[in-house]
Amino acid sequence: MKYWIHTFLIFYSLMTLCQLQPFLNERDQLVNQWVEFKQGEVMGVIEDEHGKPMIAQLRFFDPDGAIVKRIQSNEEGSFEAVLDEGRYTLEISKGYEYEIKQLPIEVQNENPLTLTSISLARIMDWGAKQYISGDFHQHSQFSPDGRNTISEVFDANRANGLNSGALTDHNTVSGNDEWVTLAKDSNFIAIPSQEITTKQGHYVALNTTELLDITELETKNDVEKMISMIHEQGGLVQINHPGRQFLNWEQAALFDAIEIWNGRAMPPLSDQSGVETSFSYNEISKKKWFDLLSSGVKITALGNSDNHDISGGSMGASISENKTFNEWMADGWYNGNPRNYIKVEEQSITGILDGIKQGHVFITNGPLMDITMNNVSFGDTLENVVDAEISYLIASNHGNLQQLNIIADGKVIEEIPLAANVPTIGTVTLNLSAYHWVVFEVTSESFEYAISNPIYLK
Ligand SMILES: [Zn+2]
Repeated sequence: MKYWIHTFLIFYSLMTLCQLQPFLNERDQLVNQWVEFKQGEVMGVIEDEHGKPMIAQLRFFDPDGAIVKRIQSNEEGSFEAVLDEGRYTLEISKGYEYEIKQLPIEVQNENPLTLTSISLARIMDWGAKQYISGDFHQHSQFSPDGRNTISEVFDANRANGLNSGALTDHNTVSGNDEWVTLAKDSNFIAIPSQEITTKQGHYVALNTTELLDITELETKNDVEKMISMIHEQGGLVQINHPGRQFLNWEQAALFDAIEIWNGRAMPPLSDQSGVETSFSYNEISKKKWFDLLSSGVKITALGNSDNHDISGGSMGASISENKTFNEWMADGWYNGNPRNYIKVEEQSITGILDGIKQGHVFITNGPLMDITMNNVSFGDTLENVVDAEISYLIASNHGNLQQLNIIADGKVIEEIPLAANVPTIGTVTLNLSAYHWVVFEVTSESFEYAISNPIYLK
């Protein structure tokens, strides 16, 4: 079981002990009964800290820490699940700004378990720092390999605490009307999009409503044509998972964004030796992006789930020899993991697109960062810098942070230890006169990771 699960279990066990006493007594009476084929019901309501019902994600883990089921509460906060009799740990979460709760539960055939008023508090507010979170590469049933309806994908986005999202089905825009309509009366920003799947690579055409004719895009020279077709629609183009299949690196500068972190593979941590390329390509993408930055190309890095199944499954049967990889894969593949945090001037599609164009973005699967360097931040440029004062605030609801790496021109020039369980706030002054760009990276004791776009120096 992952380290943070243990941490939360210990943390909440005292709190939940009194609540669970009746169930524990009943469990003891049932110990000797034959329970193999019996199932029981679990239901309840999730609320925020003010008692307002909310949509959230629930995962049930067996005593070995394996995921048994993933569901989400509805608009009224209520949820219901049927599970085999037995003991589970119920995890309730809503992305990276709410606390994550772990409750030990007992499921019994004769005795439906009702968990009333489970409250989940928002413990961080990156919206107050003008950040919007978004996953800009997600699939529905409109893709041949997608599992879910549009409304299931929409609910999964909100259950995972996303503020915005793009629907990017393969070579179709058929789901976009429903995607945009569902978000109409909510504060979720739904961006109509499509994934252009061609022999020349895969691309997200973000904010496009008209279908692009891919039969026109068969040769390398057609990439430029594709980019202008997307720009004419008011969209942005992202190179998808380039470490896996993008070949035309000399054309990379023409794109608006590069997906250096695709949710289907491990986070771009530095050492992935022993993991097959099909699941470690993000590391290759990140290195390629560093090379582009060092050659003077400014291109915004994004990270998206590329989710095809909100249940977190469909990762493929491939099991590696690598233990770390298997642990990562067993945790599932969810919407918004990873996601982008974009600093916006307005809460709209235009605000998001402008933020991406300007590189005001960091990518994360948990850790949140707020960093300034001589009062500018990600995507900005500083001129004639010698000593740079870097102020940082790093936090996570997962609680096992390790260090903040300051990377200049591709090399780690400073490693700052982070407190595992509480936010770290600090300032460091570095002489950066020899460098051209600086990226910030947050590492943890497991797979939680975050990386920023560069602050450019000239
Ligand atoms: Zn895709």
